[in-house]
Amino acid sequence: MQMMQEEFNTLLEKHHLKKTGPRLSVLSVLRSRDMATSQPELEEILGKEIDRVTLYRVLSTFEEKGIIHKVLDLKGTANYAICSAKCNEHEHHDEHVHFNCTDCNHIYCLDGHVHLPEISVPKGFKSTSVNLSVYGVCSKCNKKAE
Ligand SMILES: [Zn+2]
Ligand SMILES: [Zn+2]
Ligand SMILES: [Zn+2]
Repeated sequence: MQMMQEEFNTLLEKHHLKKTGPRLSVLSVLRSRDMATSQPELEEILGKEIDRVTLYRVLSTFEEKGIIHKVLDLKGTANYAICSAKCNEHEHHDEHVHFNCTDCNHIYCLDGHVHLPEISVPKGFKSTSVNLSVYGVCSKCNKKAE
């Protein structure tokens, strides 16, 4: 746990953000989960620790600064996951495949598992990010069926 605290402090410092209780709590929840987390889930996990407005602000600041990225689940709800170290306040570089489980509706970042293909765009178009999604059943849901 101590190790994690330090990692979070460094992360906030790197992005010129003050260390606040709510920020550290959100980071530790997002880091501890192997899937992306929605705001309602965060509200449930954090309980009364953070009010809704503060949580919303923490998430939007983190997204702006390149600490977390947003992925929409199958219901269109925004889910958040920790970014790669390459992300900053100017650009996100989360060019990894997202796995959407059609059973539990969770999203997993498939960081480093799959390489994204080069996507060529028509002349005059300029692409700034690529978002690839895979749909199926995650390992947890898959086990339930066995
Ligand atoms: Zn990012
Ligand atoms: Zn699942
Ligand atoms: Zn991701």
